[in-house]
Amino acid sequence: MRCRACGFFETYSEERKTELETQSVFDSCPNCGETNPDKYQQPFKLKSPRAYRTNLSAGSDTKDDSEFLLSRPPIFAEKIGLANIEIVSNASISISNNDVTWRVNTNSDRFFTGKLYNTNNKFPFNSNGFWFNNQWLLNDFATNVPVNNGYSMFVQQNQAGVEEQIALASNKNTEILRIAPTTVPLELDLNMFFSETDLPHIKAQSNGVRSGYYSAAFLLQRILADKLDIDPTEIEIADISMKVLEDETNRRIAEIILTDELPNGSGFVRFLYDNFANILSESINPSNPNSYLGKIHSQTHQEKCDNACYDCLKVFRNMNYHSLLDWRLGLSMLRIMNDSNFVCGADGSFKFIELQNWLAFATELRNAFAQSFGFSHTAEIKGLPIIKFGKNQKHIIMIVHPFWDLRNIREANWLAEIKAEIDEYVVQSGGYISIIDTFNLHRRPGWCYEKLVIR
Ligand SMILES: [Zn+2]
Ligand SMILES: [Zn+2]
Repeated sequence: MRCRACGFFETYSEERKTELETQSVFDSCPNCGETNPDKYQQPFKLKSPRAYRTNLSAGSDTKDDSEFLLSRPPIFAEKIGLANIEIVSNASISISNNDVTWRVNTNSDRFFTGKLYNTNNKFPFNSNGFWFNNQWLLNDFATNVPVNNGYSMFVQQNQAGVEEQIALASNKNTEILRIAPTTVPLELDLNMFFSETDLPHIKAQSNGVRSGYYSAAFLLQRILADKLDIDPTEIEIADISMKVLEDETNRRIAEIILTDELPNGSGFVRFLYDNFANILSESINPSNPNSYLGKIHSQTHQEKCDNACYDCLKVFRNMNYHSLLDWRLGLSMLRIMNDSNFVCGADGSFKFIELQNWLAFATELRNAFAQSFGFSHTAEIKGLPIIKFGKNQKHIIMIVHPFWDLRNIREANWLAEIKAEIDEYVVQSGGYISIIDTFNLHRRPGWCYEKLVIR
């Protein structure tokens, strides 16, 4: 079973599934309780074929318009045992060599429908044909193939054939490294798994948080590849899963999962585990300006790269993540794991390589947004860009960083002072506060206008 609401993935034997079903375990996600069928998938049957067959004809040329696959299906890491968690700086890391990773092809959730058939295949050298019994065929391909150059196939129903819907899967045992922040300052909300009941701006901010985790994962993958002089594809990034902070706040965070591509492990993620403190501090302060990290930190890269480019995070193989990647958010995520006091600018301190231009960037985005949608009153509160609009400018739009927790302002700081001032303003004017984060504002201003501006 798989849950998109929390990243949980688990496999069961047929018997165990039946047993759990009678206990209603699968009515909702066993990990987070999600019931929305768009997010929570009840168990479906996985099959790992030993081999594949064709209709055994001479074949035909590939059609020009046939779809080609840009990316491989995601990897899921299944937790089998409990691994020791070690704390390095502000990161909780664990490595295990008895967990299993799965690559599952659900055919875009349409699955594969088929059953057992018998086929009779004729060949130019055997016009009587051979019988192949108990062949599992996709229903779409279980059709007779007329004679062509002496080849043909006749499909016969098989009494034992029971139609089934399956997903194709392959699994392997390999080393699995899990990485998550140990503590998260109360100024930040690092939950990328929002709830349906969350406010629109919180759901929106979770996109930037998701970007932070995935960008940090791809950064680590590339740092490791650079250090060990290997191909980045030797290290795989599995689906990120949910974790609950053990600090009695019940806040949700997420866990990055990296695995060796090679079955039984190649020692690469083990190297990251063994050298995590070094690699973390190196990613914040690179010692060699010509290394992969040095180039990311360079002035030239900072100036030309707004979110991600082929010099930092993009490669052809992670194409389906391109719109999500952002080296600044990835670096901030690593900085949180390196320093539990880092609050990502919520204290008004932006003296970090990935944050130093944030206020200017936010102001630029705010200006473009105001111009596109006809807002004429822009202002700054302690440097933070805002927009006032509506009758007597009673409403306020606040531009924020995607990692900031705007739901509970619990710490007295720069952000809290700004929020208090805005709260007071709208109490007097009778207006509303809209919150727009820079991750979404940069990528989809029209969507922000539609979904996040409260009028
Ligand atoms: Zn779940
Ligand atoms: Zn870049």
